Amino acid sequence: MQELKDIWNLVLNLIEKEVTAVSFDLWIKTLEPLEIKGDKLILLSPSTTAKTQLIKYHSIVLKTCIAEVMPNVESFDIIDPTEKESYLKASEPVNSNCIENNIPQNNVNCFNAKYTFDKFVVGKSNQFVYAAARSVAEHPGTKYNPLFIYGGVGLGKTHLLHAIGNFLKTNRPDLKIMYATCEKFTNDYIESLRASKEGANHNFREKYRKLDVLMIDDIQFISNKTGTQEEFFHTFNDLYQNNKQIIISSDRPPKEIATLEDRLRSRFASGLIQDIQSPDFETRVAILQKKALQENYNVDSAVITFIAEKLDTNIREMEGLLQRVVFYSNLIGKQSASMAEAEEALKDQIDSKKASLSAKNIIDCTCKYYNISEQEIIGKKKNKEIVDPRQISIYIITEMLDLPLATIGQIFGGRDHTTIIHSRDKISELIKTSPRIKIAVTDIKSMVLKL
Ligand code: ADP
Ligand code: MG
Repeated sequence: MQELKDIWNLVLNLIEKEVTAVSFDLWIKTLEPLEIKGDKLILLSPSTTAKTQLIKYHSIVLKTCIAEVMPNVESFDIIDPTEKESYLKASEPVNSNCIENNIPQNNVNCFNAKYTFDKFVVGKSNQFVYAAARSVAEHPGTKYNPLFIYGGVGLGKTHLLHAIGNFLKTNRPDLKIMYATCEKFTNDYIESLRASKEGANHNFREKYRKLDVLMIDDIQFISNKTGTQEEFFHTFNDLYQNNKQIIISSDRPPKEIATLEDRLRSRFASGLIQDIQSPDFETRVAILQKKALQENYNVDSAVITFIAEKLDTNIREMEGLLQRVVFYSNLIGKQSASMAEAEEALKDQIDSKKASLSAKNIIDCTCKYYNISEQEIIGKKKNKEIVDPRQISIYIITEMLDLPLATIGQIFGGRDHTTIIHSRDKISELIKTSPRIKIAVTDIKSMVLKL
């Protein structure tokens, strides 16, 4: 169970970034992971109040962060101490092979049933990677080996790995398949070292080198782990030489994984390296429509378009927004979700986008507008071509962001807060008299809002 605790700690790290420190300390941190049952994570809260609070205010963040770290987990349940005993009594023994390792052994299925090829929407951004994944699933070990898939967060890498797993499970039940996150592979390796020091036999090599298909998700986390890289290199060679299929995912191409050994980099390059890009608007709409259909969500098409317009880089977040709208509509007793509910449900999200606009965004836009560098705008130059944009960006920052003047001073190369006040007041006067300044301020602001 130590392993589940370690994985839970990774979930906590993510949640900590998403909620206020008070909520985190008061509610989230008190949760204890009990077990994974089927595809459900069971969490124990210290009291009924805590449970109510968590369900009411934090279920979405919990769901999202759990999904991020534990792709095999579909949902979670919170039980409170009054329910613990009856829960334990009713609890059937879990399939420890599958659960404990978070990976499938032979025919045990730990792949998320929702992540199949059928449910993957293909568009311009992912057609090649989809074709490559399908081809590998149909001809493991012979077509593209290794297959290296890379792309940003929430773009479908894990989905495709599971799709290959699900496909093989159905069509090639004879094969030994293993899916492991890089973290899992590393922990397994570390555990094997510890065990062998203690004279125990840990079947790490046996486990990994006897496979027909090995998938490692998020390999970028291997970058600073020399020992794990070494072990992976040997595992890789062993499997590769025996024509076993290796599939790897990463958030960046091999050449950008810092401190990745050259010999590993060249091994990766010997197969197919395929990127997965952000989906275009039509694909985003299709993904949301499919999701709504799949989950039986009753939503107006305007809501889908609205969400697809709001987010263009992360499909997981986009799905999260859709879920939020549906959740909110159900809460207020609506059968279907229309724009009115969407606007209400996503108000915070939209506001928080505004809040997350950083001073850097404003500086970047101003620099772009005036075609000057960031160094110049925050530097010491006193010529008008630089001073005007500098004062304008300071003015916009004071207008759009709720930052202390001293902080703005710091951002602008350690200037005093009185300088910031001077810049702000000067531009707010100039706007009234100079059309040139007024237009610049309006244009830059709209550039920032479009980010
Ligand atoms: P990654 O591993 O790249 O961070 P995931 O595979 O976890 O991303 O995908 C995030 C979510 O988006 C999942 O729910 C997945 O099903 C969904 N998703 C991503 N791409 C697609 C797609 N092309 N069609 C349908 N759903 C998708
Ligand atoms: Mg992933």
